[in-house]
Amino acid sequence: MEEKRQPLEVYVERYPDIPIEVILKEDLLRLGVRFTEAALAAAKDCRPKSYYLFSFDRIRHDEMEKDESSRVPDDIDFLGGLYNLRQTNFRVEIARDTPYLIDVEDGEIVLFENETPVAQILYPPKPDYYRMTFEDGTSYGQIVPLLFGRHAFITIYRFCQFWGAGEECKFCDISANLRDLRKKKDRMNPDHVLYRAVKNADQVATVIETMHKNMFVEEKESLWNRMVSILITSGSIKKTIEGMKPIDFYLRYVRAIRERVGNRIPIILIVEPGEEEDMKRLHEAGVTSYNPNFEVWDRRLFQILCPGKEKYIGRDEWIRRTVKAVEIFGTGNVSPNFVAGVEMAQPWGFQDVDQAVGSTVEGLDYMMSKGVVPHPDSWCIEPGSALGGHPPIPLDYYLKLDRAWYHTWIKYDLPPNTGWGPIGNGRGCYGNSGYVNMREGRI
Ligand code: SF4
Repeated sequence: MEEKRQPLEVYVERYPDIPIEVILKEDLLRLGVRFTEAALAAAKDCRPKSYYLFSFDRIRHDEMEKDESSRVPDDIDFLGGLYNLRQTNFRVEIARDTPYLIDVEDGEIVLFENETPVAQILYPPKPDYYRMTFEDGTSYGQIVPLLFGRHAFITIYRFCQFWGAGEECKFCDISANLRDLRKKKDRMNPDHVLYRAVKNADQVATVIETMHKNMFVEEKESLWNRMVSILITSGSIKKTIEGMKPIDFYLRYVRAIRERVGNRIPIILIVEPGEEEDMKRLHEAGVTSYNPNFEVWDRRLFQILCPGKEKYIGRDEWIRRTVKAVEIFGTGNVSPNFVAGVEMAQPWGFQDVDQAVGSTVEGLDYMMSKGVVPHPDSWCIEPGSALGGHPPIPLDYYLKLDRAWYHTWIKYDLPPNTGWGPIGNGRGCYGNSGYVNMREGRI
């Protein structure tokens, strides 16, 4: 494990084949960021952090001295600066012990690494639909936030039934996140109407229809606020939810959306892998891409870190169904995630970076050889998860993994994974990982 953090410039020299944007982004994702009061004030009208699934913070709400969780953007772009960086976005993880600070200097919002200004910062504008509310007081922006200015994200069920039985994944804070949000005295939302566990399908479809009218057709030339994909996810459902089997619950939302906006925008469904018949029904109803998140490749670590997934489906069956899904949805349309870095979680995981990367690359190679295009999401170590308080994973790990992902993707000549945006430095628009910003060298 990393003993003492090296400054960014050390990695810029050590990895000349990796874009500096990837290096900075991965360091921000593993360490998080702080804000000065001036930087928070400058974020007043931007698209706010939505806590749409997990907290993606490195400290708890009640540890935030400036009420940061009510004031920061959901995601941020960096560009220019010391290294003349291309515009690149990253998710905001509020942290305390981090070298990264956002401040305002001479009227510009600037990212600092310790005392050194590294890049210019752009906050995301708030889409017009965020200002709309339903009669019950629920805001459109909380029903469907627009992640990274591109992805309409809908967590249709905000709890996970693995929680409470000791079966939850050890890196996950989904249910703790919702409980914390409900406890938090949110001045924007004193009645907590935003934080229902199950989203209303008609409200979801209404927001998507509004987004489709305002952001897909009329603003399609704008870099900001374009809806390029609709992502639907849910905590795990062991048997039923609202009297429905999981498949019927998912179909309720897919059909409601397709009825309102047609087929032009891809729908990505992020759920546990179902039987073949269920996958066919989802495909026929309009699901474009299927994402049965795999989390960690190593067999022993999967069993330890994902006990619910191992108990109710099992690793081998999970892989079999994931590969089978390619026959139904097509190459590039099956994209499970890996929680990048969690294979180094102690006391069970690898201690050596190369061994950890080697393990995950074995999984990437196997899946990509079958037409599956996994996406590694960089692990945010959240205090509400069982692994809260774990030290950050070395930056070398993330850079070696992003490089290996890219080379494996080239090796099998695969398309980008549908719904997560393009691949390439200056093009990737998914802020949870650096792999989308990979390219060969720094041209
Ligand atoms: S299945 Fe695991 S990662 Fe997914 S919501 Fe449940 S506990 Fe979290």
